[in-house]
Parts: sequence; structure tokens; C-alpha cells
Amino acid sequence: MKYTLFLLTIAIFLSTFTFAQEQRDLLNPTVRDLLNSKLDGEIAKEHVVQLTKFHRVQASPGYREAANYVLNKLREYGFSEKDAYIETFLSDGKKEYQTWQSPSGWDITSARLSIVQPEEFLLVSYPDIPMSLMTYSNPGDVTAEVAWVGNGTNDSDYVQKNVKGKFVLATGSGEDVHRLAVIKYGAKAVVNYLDEKRGRENPDMIRYTGIWPRAEELSKVTFGFNISNAHGEKLRSMLAEGKKVVLHGVVQGKGLHPSTMEVVVATIRGRQFPEEELVFTAHLDHPKECANDNASGSAAILDIARSFKEMLKQRILPQPNRSLKFLWVPEWYGTMAYIDAHPEFAGPTSGGKIIAGINMDMVGENLELLHSKMFVVKSPWSVSSCLNDVVANMASMVDKMNIQKPGGSKSQFNYRVVPFRSGSDHMMMLDRKIPTVMLSHSDYTHHTTYDTPANVDPTELQRAEMIAASSLWYLANLSASESLDLFELVKANTYQHFGEMARMVRAQITGAKIKDLPMAWSESDNALSTQFVFDVEAAKSVQHFNNDPELIKLAEQVQGHYGKRFEFLFGLTRAHAEASSYGADLGPPVNTQPDERIPERLTRGPIDLRLPWSKLPQKDAAWYEGINFSLNDSQRFEIINLIDGKRKVSEIRNIFIAEFGSTPDSVVNRFISDLVKIKVLRWKSDGK
Ligand SMILES: [Zn+2]
Ligand SMILES: [Zn+2]
Repeated sequence: MKYTLFLLTIAIFLSTFTFAQEQRDLLNPTVRDLLNSKLDGEIAKEHVVQLTKFHRVQASPGYREAANYVLNKLREYGFSEKDAYIETFLSDGKKEYQTWQSPSGWDITSARLSIVQPEEFLLVSYPDIPMSLMTYSNPGDVTAEVAWVGNGTNDSDYVQKNVKGKFVLATGSGEDVHRLAVIKYGAKAVVNYLDEKRGRENPDMIRYTGIWPRAEELSKVTFGFNISNAHGEKLRSMLAEGKKVVLHGVVQGKGLHPSTMEVVVATIRGRQFPEEELVFTAHLDHPKECANDNASGSAAILDIARSFKEMLKQRILPQPNRSLKFLWVPEWYGTMAYIDAHPEFAGPTSGGKIIAGINMDMVGENLELLHSKMFVVKSPWSVSSCLNDVVANMASMVDKMNIQKPGGSKSQFNYRVVPFRSGSDHMMMLDRKIPTVMLSHSDYTHHTTYDTPANVDPTELQRAEMIAASSLWYLANLSASESLDLFELVKANTYQHFGEMARMVRAQITGAKIKDLPMAWSESDNALSTQFVFDVEAAKSVQHFNNDPELIKLAEQVQGHYGKRFEFLFGLTRAHAEASSYGADLGPPVNTQPDERIPERLTRGPIDLRLPWSKLPQKDAAWYEGINFSLNDSQRFEIINLIDGKRKVSEIRNIFIAEFGSTPDSVVNRFISDLVKIKVLRWKSDGK
């Protein structure tokens, strides 16, 4: 007996000891265990199986069936007509929602592509392999020779090649190949194959590509097929042997036509502040095969909606203080239509009531089969928020829970919290200044016929659901004492940044060449002062979830509190500069080409990713393809999201380089100026 007590004492001592080493969980363990017992990754997996029965292409009948599946399930779970419904938006390939052109409606019943010469051979048929037909293809019937154009996305790929009246065989993005080969050079249709590492390793893998016509191209669209690497190589080798290769492609159905996009909306109303909302989003569209992308996210938020509804019905959870909202969207375009119709859909710093969001896109990956891990993608500096700290804490909580579903894998959880990257609907939320985190995975089957339900794991779905549901439930009900605890967590995480920043400035300054040293000092100081502002903002953002007077008092002090640490860091940069024998009162100005103009946004939602170049004259657009322009989608998104009608171009650039690393003034200045030229921005003085 005594011995047992001794062991127990040791066990308690050990557990307290480990506890001190790990981050304490924010969430009350009773709520944690309740959520884990009611959320069900196996039910979510079953939704994945059902949703992948539909070819869920945006503005197509298959998407509509998927939307109805979700709505019917919501009804089954007890959501009334008032609390769950479909919002419908025109989608005709012309209508623009802010800067985003809606996709055309699309409906095809069957299609086949065969070799007819030098041998007869069926390559692919649709709908047997839904991904084999390029989305937004029109009907047609073509028998013609095939010509190889390589990547096929550049004019240079067509030099001295006669593609007129032929099929082209290419490996580049289907949209760009169709635009050049068919619309510009008169080819009849496109055959696309996957010629990259994963295609060569999996010779029967077929990749999803689509035609995505612009409004002015609608009448010129023909069709295209996606084939495997093995088949692509077969065609190429026959051509290389000098054989005449003739293909027959036939596509039947309605093709492109005016139609609609549907957004499924569900709400669990809050008790105390029903007008304040926390939002779960998932894109419901994609080709039929796409199980992890994103039947998984759609299924996960549907299961979260079911679980909350049941727990409320059984009265084992109280009605939340704030409302929980669920949005199933046609990716990007449908979210843009929704934002266009709902100017009130905005975050707290721009006067809105949507206080946090989690976007779930690719959340069911079987970690072992796909050699994958989960990414918790943070909200960027333009929407600095304690949400990052909350979701990271919930992920660490889930890591400690050792979740394994009976019908799921026995994988160990593997996740990383990573800086902001764009690519899904969290962009739209973040643009509206709604703090949003995305849960996602790395996945070699992405956008291919290999993305099947067999790779979707109930265990991983359960983990993703737990992280998302715990985070937003916690914030929807944040009590005064929890808000103080959260505030301390945000501060603790900031102290960790201090240590890392001390390392960063040392490396940056002592590692600089003598001629670069002054600017390295200035850029280090710029990084510190920018980090300071956003750390203070993240701490203060706790007040959006609870306005306890004690918290407000602490939040007011936080600037002074952090300030002392930052003073120390500024001292360090000076000391490093002096030690590297650069003696001056200050580093040089951080902007070599200061631009004092203040840009203002003229549209809501992120700006179409092809802007500004798609609307610039060709000679100006060419600069964006050259080596001087280096900004990727995520970086361009963040520059635009930092435009608030108050910051100057130079200030935006300085925040940007602190977040993403050194970039010349000239690049940011030109990018913003071109967006003014095409009238999606204006200079503030012009508006007076
Ligand atoms: Zn996708
Ligand atoms: Zn996706």
C-alpha cells in the first residue's frame, strides 16, 4: 500500500515536472474530453466517401449535388431553415465579383480520347476518369494529328511549329496552354500530361488541369484532356520516331453556359453576443477524385456542426456566448461572390463582427501513406492576432492526446506551425481583416487521380476537427479569467520571439560584408520596430474576445512592458554594428527610393492573383515575367493587405521586408503603382 503511494507520489511529481516543461493547455480538460468524445472522424470520413461521388466543379451540376448533400445533412442534424440555407450567385464566366470573374457554368456528359494512328488505343474516357477531361471544356469532335510543344505556356514553345488544326501535346498549366495553342495559334484542342517527379514515379497518375476561360475567351473555348505520364511519354516517343500520330477526341454535353455558384451557410446562434461570429470555412468544390482536397475539410466542418448541435440539444454544452458560423464555398470565386454580397462580413479592426476564422483545406491526410504532416498556417502580420497562439496551443494539446480512431490509422501526430502562406479561402477572410488560421497538409497526391478516400484517415480528421472546434469554441466563450490566461500565453510566446530576434540581428549584422553593414543594421532595426508593433497588436487583440477591465488595464501596459525588451535589442544592434567597426549614430535610411504616396483600396477581397499584369499593356506586363520581379502569391497578397489608406508605400515595403525578407523599394513601388494604373487602387490625394 505504502509502496503504491510512493509510486503515485513519484508519478505525480513526474507529471508535474513534465508539465512545467510543456506549454499549459488553454482549454479546460473537461471541455476537451467532451469535444473529443462527440466529434467523430469516422463520421467525417463517411462524408468524404459520399462527397467524392460528385464531380464538384464550381458552377456545375455535381457541385450543386454536393451542396445539397451538405444542406440535407444539416437538416438531419437539426438545423432549421433559418439557420442553414444555400445562397446562390450568378456564375456565367462574365459577372465580376470585385476583381474576380465568376467561372462559367459547365456541364459535360461524356468524353473520350483515343489514338487512331499508328495504332488504335483508348487513352482516357470521361466520366470514368473525371479528371481526364480539362474542366470548362466545350463539346466537340476532332480527329487530327498531334504536335509536341513542350511546356506550351510560352510563345517561344510555338516558334517554327505548325499547330493549326492539330492537337497539341504539352506539360504546362492547361489554362495557359489552351490560351496560347488554341486561342492564339489555332490548334483544335489540348492534351496535357504530368511530366514532373511524382508523375514519373507514378506513371498512371493523372493531374487536374482546367481551361478557366476569361470572359473575352468564352466563345473560343474548345476542349482538352489530361492523360498520364505513361501515355504522354508514349505519344512523345512515337512523335520522336517520326511517326504520324493521329488522335480522336470527342466531348459531348452542354459545355459552357450561364449558371450559378452555391454557398452553404449554417449558424449556431450565440446567447450573449449573437451578432459576433466565429467562422469555419472549407471549399466544397473540386474534381470528383479530390478526397483530401477538399472533401476532407468540407466533411470536417460538417462533423463539427453536427457535434455542436448534438451537444447543445443534449444540454451537455451551453449555448455559446457568440455565434458559430459554417461556410462551404466554391473556392475563391464563391467566397468572393459572398464577400461582394456581404460588406458586413469583416473583422473587428475594420468595424466588423466576424472575430475569428479557421479555414480547413486538406485535413484528412493519412500521414503514413502520404508521408505527410499537418500545417497550422498562421494569420500574417496584416491581421496580427492572438488566434495564432490559440490554435498553436490547441495543436499542442491534440499532440498530447494521442488520438487514434478505431477505424483510423495508428500514426503519430506530426504537425508544424508555419508562417502565413496563401492559396485557399483564408486569403478572402484575411483580406476582410478577419483573423484566420488554415489547417492543411503536404500531400504528393494533390490535384491528381491519386487523391482518393483511401488516403483519408479518420484519425487525422479527428485531430483536425479537435484543433479547429476547440479553438473557436474556446474563443466564442472566453471568460474573464481565461482572457487573462490567454494574454499571459501571448506574452510568453512574444518573449520567445525576443530571444530569437537577438540571434537574428546578430547573424544579420555580424554576417554582413563591410559595404552592406550599414544597411544590415538599418534593416535589423526595421525588423525589430515592426515586430514590436505587431506583437503589441497580437496581445491587444485578446480584447476582441473579452473586454474584462483587468485585461484592458494589462493590454494598456503591454507596450511599455515589451518596450524595455526592445530597447535592449536596439542596443544590441548598435553594439554589433560598432563591434564590426561601423561607428555612426544611426544606420542609413532603410528606403533607398522612398515613396511617400498613400495608396487606398477600391475593392473588397484580395485582388485577382493575375493582376496587375493581365490588365497592363504587353510591354509593361513583361516586367512581371522577368528576373526583377520576385514576389510570389503570398507576398503580393500581404503587400495589398497592408494597404489601409494610412500607410505610405515605403512604410508598407518596410513592414513587408521585416516579415518576408529584403526586397528592393523599386519592386514594391512599381507593383503598387501598377495596381493604381489599372484602377484597383488609387492614391489618397486623388480621392480628395
Ligand atoms: Zn485544390
Ligand atoms: Zn484545396
